[in-house]
Amino acid sequence: MSVSESISPDSDAIDAHGSRRSTSGGPADLETGAILSIDLSAITTNWRSLASRVAPAECAAVVKADAYGCGAEPVARALADAGCRVFFVASLAEARKVRAIAPNATVYALNGLPPGSASAFADADVRPVIGSLIELAEWDAYRAASQWRGGCALHFDTGMNRLGLSLDEAPALATRLNSQNHGISLVMSHFVCSEAPADPLNERQIEAFRDVRLLFRGVTSSLANSSGIFIGASAHGDLVRPGYALYGGNPLPGQPNPMKAAIGLKGRIVQIRNVPQGGTVGYGAAWTAPSPAKIAVVSVGYADGYVRAAGGAEGRPGAQVVVAGRHCHVVGRISMDLSTVDITALPEHAVRRGDFATLIGGDITIDDLAAWTGTIGYEVLTNLGARYHRVWTQ
Ligand SMILES: *Cc1c(COP(=O)(O)O)cnc(C)c1O
Repeated sequence: MSVSESISPDSDAIDAHGSRRSTSGGPADLETGAILSIDLSAITTNWRSLASRVAPAECAAVVKADAYGCGAEPVARALADAGCRVFFVASLAEARKVRAIAPNATVYALNGLPPGSASAFADADVRPVIGSLIELAEWDAYRAASQWRGGCALHFDTGMNRLGLSLDEAPALATRLNSQNHGISLVMSHFVCSEAPADPLNERQIEAFRDVRLLFRGVTSSLANSSGIFIGASAHGDLVRPGYALYGGNPLPGQPNPMKAAIGLKGRIVQIRNVPQGGTVGYGAAWTAPSPAKIAVVSVGYADGYVRAAGGAEGRPGAQVVVAGRHCHVVGRISMDLSTVDITALPEHAVRRGDFATLIGGDITIDDLAAWTGTIGYEVLTNLGARYHRVWTQ
């Protein structure tokens, strides 16, 4: 979905409390099956709390993948208003969206410089995160042939073996600092397993990056993602790069979540039906009613990012959802556009057609849904579908 095309100010921009403004996007509420709400004030609160945790280091914001499914434009606008000055995205296309709403921000594209793209980076005033000598050669050639003096980041690989210059290349590259206009505005690296703070690899990466920082003295340095921030000051460098924690994900798996939840997902109940004992529900007859059952059919399916792993069979309960204030389980397979929830235990008449089931929100976190479906909350967020009616509250 192109958020910029679909965002419109809500006519009732002031909510019941009289203070919180909202904007909406995606299909209209009644024209779709589910409502995704994004609490921008929770996101800015999370950013501020991380910023104060790392001070005097600076706190950037990672808004790649449409701000982890939360809407790059509204999220970047809210964060820029809150004082965030540095944004990271994956690609130039994503960077343009941030540039358009935050003209004075510094914007880095993590996936580097695709061949032939240097002038486009300069035109958009976006800084490539350079991860190989060939990329750097191309960027240098462009800078030599043009008047462009905008910066770039050098990404050093300290253990991921994914993107990044190798550490052996650092000393030679550091001699560039002797020239004026060297154009290196940031040196960075990326943690392999910061969500497991006791893993010795973290300390090895911190040490390796310490050498990079020494070589590139005077250049801003950046190492920590969300979980890396909680390793402590030795991981902070000059600039931290949280993504997941901004959106309410738990940067400390297995411990209480210090962040504020920012996402709510409610699916409309299209129909309530009685299933006799022995009746099966959904494709593949994957779930059989052990006794007379009542099923709520919710208009959210795998095409909306509510993955098939959320389904349930006998002996393997599906994901939980909240209906009429009570936790219920998905039963049967998730369809493309629909899910089926066992509401047998709810009081008679507690649920009516048109009511909503809460799939994310309240005490159901993105980390819970991820655990029930065998993935990580990052994937839950970035899977959030394009068909939802979206509401961003301020
Ligand atoms: C995605 C990404 C981040 C943000 O990571 P989170 O775990 O979401 O905080 C930071 N740095 C790099 C290089 C990334 O790719």
